[in-house]
Amino acid sequence: VVPKTDPIKIVEDLIKNNRIAVFSKTTCPYCIKVKQLFSALNLEIGVIEVDTREDGADIQDALLQKTGQKTVPNVFVNGEHVGGCDKTIEAHHSGRLQFLLNKSQGDASVEMTDAVKYDYDLVVIGGGSGGLAASKEAALLGAKVAVCDFVVPTPIGTTWGLGGTCVNVGCIPKKLMHQAAILGQSVEDAKTFGWELPEKAKHDWTTMVGAIQAHIGSLNWGYRVALREKKVEYINAFAEFVDPHTLKTTDKRQKEKTITAKYILLATGGRPRYPDIPGAQEFGITSDDIFSLPHHPGKTLLVGASYIALECAGFLAGLGINSTVMVRSILLRGFDQQIANLIGNYMEKHKIRFQRGYVPIKLERIEEGSPEEGTPGRIMVTSQNEEGELMEEEYNTVLFAIGRDACTNKIGIEKANVMLNPKNGKVICDEKEQTNIPHIYAIGDILDGKLELTPVAIQAGRLLAKRLFGNGTLITDYVNVPTTVFTPLEYGCVGLSEEDAIAKYGADDIEVYHSFLTPLEVTVPKRDGNEGYAKLICVKSLDEKVVGFHILSPNAGEITQGFAIGLKLGAKKADFDNLIGIHPTIAEVFTTLNSTKSSGADVLQKGC
Ligand code: FAD
Ligand code: NDP
Repeated sequence: VVPKTDPIKIVEDLIKNNRIAVFSKTTCPYCIKVKQLFSALNLEIGVIEVDTREDGADIQDALLQKTGQKTVPNVFVNGEHVGGCDKTIEAHHSGRLQFLLNKSQGDASVEMTDAVKYDYDLVVIGGGSGGLAASKEAALLGAKVAVCDFVVPTPIGTTWGLGGTCVNVGCIPKKLMHQAAILGQSVEDAKTFGWELPEKAKHDWTTMVGAIQAHIGSLNWGYRVALREKKVEYINAFAEFVDPHTLKTTDKRQKEKTITAKYILLATGGRPRYPDIPGAQEFGITSDDIFSLPHHPGKTLLVGASYIALECAGFLAGLGINSTVMVRSILLRGFDQQIANLIGNYMEKHKIRFQRGYVPIKLERIEEGSPEEGTPGRIMVTSQNEEGELMEEEYNTVLFAIGRDACTNKIGIEKANVMLNPKNGKVICDEKEQTNIPHIYAIGDILDGKLELTPVAIQAGRLLAKRLFGNGTLITDYVNVPTTVFTPLEYGCVGLSEEDAIAKYGADDIEVYHSFLTPLEVTVPKRDGNEGYAKLICVKSLDEKVVGFHILSPNAGEITQGFAIGLKLGAKKADFDNLIGIHPTIAEVFTTLNSTKSSGADVLQKGC
């Protein structure tokens, strides 16, 4: 009796002995299409036509076991499973096919020796917005990828899961707390619309934190699953350079491992800075702690006057928490200052106190908290102004939001000779996110001179992976990136501030169209008339091309996202005028802006 050949061995042999292995059926139109593709590309293939063999069904069962796919065609390139007809054609278009073929051919992108020489095609340091996007895209294109992510606990011991700043201690919990504050206002407004509610609605901090943290937990889990599905190896360990191609990883049990990579991507993000004053780290917290704070923060001081300080002050006050912002100089440096001041005025009207011109110089604990009762204790803050005058005040919580430091100083960067900007520790890259060391790249918050925003990090990561491992040629466009500050009245903008537009084009060449606005939803509750504001900054000599778009209103983020495409496409003021509005919305104001700032006309909105 001739022993029957094991179908698994038949499958493995075809894959091993052919650069391209195709399991096919002679009559299947999809199989014919795939074979024609390889023939058109002048690529030789090894084929088993399962419908011509007695053991065809067994081979298909073996394929099912190996790949989870029973149907044909079933394509493998250099040992890697590509999939059926659609997946193969998609791989051809995305460049993944070429990448997999190159793995054994020794061409410029990944030489054959690399498979032997390095453990991975790409190791990403940092599993945040940028790192996850880049690693998943690279793996989809066939690269062997690992991502190292490790969270160093804050001074008070806060830590979190996979996903980086945005998901755990940034955009997501911030926006959810902003929403919690908006709901508080809505509950009050609801009464004027006929809802019968208690005289004073009460908010419970721990319930909110619990619900938000549960959501974040599900996102952390989702990221892990996504990495596994895309075959990205997740190394939950701190990575540092040993040499330009070698990293040492140390996990939380202090277990060390050495890994090597052809390409290394730095995506380590930033962490909040503490001032160098007594008591700052012992008694202060930062945005890394506030979103999971297990107890009510009590009376809170927020130090700093940019995005984070103002956003946190906004939602804390909206939750009924006594909030003070300590401003060293101006609000929202780098943003349009007219709008920054309107934000400040609005916040002041809505129970947020501003202490201007002061910086803290000392924090002292004057009363311990009582964790059982969920109370935070008391801290004495001494602060000083430019004249040297001192001020003392007690708070329960002090939150520092005075900027963020790039996480580049403890990763052995000098062993890889990667150049940093000595002023801020950020990585210097060219427009393709390549450092001075050709195989080392950087994206996200650690990039020198670029915006610290999640979608920017994601875009840079995706496009970089496509360029490294696919047919990608696009580079990230860092111009006209829309953004929104989620203060109680949101501020959305894209393009230049009025100050920057004047600096670039000269005051005589700028025309500003503007209007105050009152969202319809605040009219019945009779609050906030004319607190919103809209302006378009146009360049006269460029046929009134719009170079700055600014809106201060509820849902400004949603409005700005849509209009940003207009600025990207070079919209002129006339294009805004030709656009028909959606009534009744806030955004329609941009279709009817006809008062210029230079005219000095009254732009308070009076009717519908
Ligand atoms: P990160 O997301 O910070 O990820 C870096 C990861 O690398 C982290 O997990 C870190 O622990 C890890 N890591 C660092 N060093 C190592 C190492 N040596 N080994 C292993 N792992 C390491 N952006 C917006 O677009 N919209 C917003 O509304 C918004 N709100 C924000 C609110 C707050 C409070 C904050 C702080 C930021 C906010 N941002 C917002 C900014 C946004 O979160 C960041 O721009 C974005 O997360 C940057 O992504 P990244 O990939 O560069 O770094
Ligand atoms: P920024 O660097 O933007 O601002 C720091 C603020 O702290 C400034 O107001 C600065 O004042 C003040 N400051 C600095 N040092 C001191 C000090 N020693 N004492 C008192 N005040 C001080 O930092 P953020 O932490 O607010 O934000 C970091 C980045 O995160 C942002 O650039 C942004 O890109 C991103 N982000 C994005 C958000 C979004 O998209 N909605 C939200 C939150 C963050 P001065 O002006 O005087 O220097």
